[in-house]
Amino acid sequence: MNASAQALAPHSNEEASAELARFIADHERLFVLTGAGCSTGSGIPDYRDADGGWKRRPPVTFQAFVGGAATRSRYWARSLVGWRRFGRARPNGTHAALAELEAQGRIEVLLTQNVDGLHQAAGSREVIDLHGRLDSVRCLACELRLPRDAFQHELETRNPSWLALDALDAPDGDADLEGLDFASFRVPDCPSCDGLLKPDVVFFGENVPRDRVERATRHLDAADAMLVVGSSLMVFSGYRFARAAARAGKPVAAINLGRTRADDLLSLKIERDCADALLPLSRLRERGG
Ligand SMILES: [Zn+2]
Repeated sequence: MNASAQALAPHSNEEASAELARFIADHERLFVLTGAGCSTGSGIPDYRDADGGWKRRPPVTFQAFVGGAATRSRYWARSLVGWRRFGRARPNGTHAALAELEAQGRIEVLLTQNVDGLHQAAGSREVIDLHGRLDSVRCLACELRLPRDAFQHELETRNPSWLALDALDAPDGDADLEGLDFASFRVPDCPSCDGLLKPDVVFFGENVPRDRVERATRHLDAADAMLVVGSSLMVFSGYRFARAAARAGKPVAAINLGRTRADDLLSLKIERDCADALLPLSRLRERGG
């Protein structure tokens, strides 16, 4: 963290809670951007350490995925194993607190970098999935979309010997599965046009669809302030909104364990676990505070 953000960081948990409550009270309509830190409490690992660096091997790029059958076999084999737990993840206190804030009319929109659908599962309605959703599979040729559960069934039917495998969970429904012959793994093509199927998420090296960015930008224009929850903003697709908010003179607060790329732009930085930081707000309201 740099010196200016250090100076902005409240000193105790109580001070941090009070500052966050004040920030939310002072700004009627919040543009909320969430990241992996929201979902770690639901058992979904994140990619980055406290300095915003990679904790593990970076995820497959769009170019590698479309460019090689071997890469796709390896991706889907790992995903076959990882999805079984990822698909069953449940929302945690962070998702619940943000859904409650929306129910109180305080959220202009919730823009999430997560692909797990857990904000919607917790009851948030005005959600933009910036990087798509992992519970959907899309054909790159004809745009057909399939539910991931149905595709999972196809993967399992074609690759029964892989069902017994287990592995440590990795981010984005991936699993750490190494040292296997992925060439024997069979990946189904599009049932409609035999095209190439891909998870309906934005891969590294791939652009966020323009209409999605424009929709989020309109919400940012209508908001009074921005609240970042559980993101280091290391990816430009999310960082751009913090920059745009700052340029428009809207205050930006962030709850994140560790450095964010926008630390220079923040008017409030809370270095705590997201659920721990947001829970006192619910308690204050329960007491009529
Ligand atoms: Zn197709």
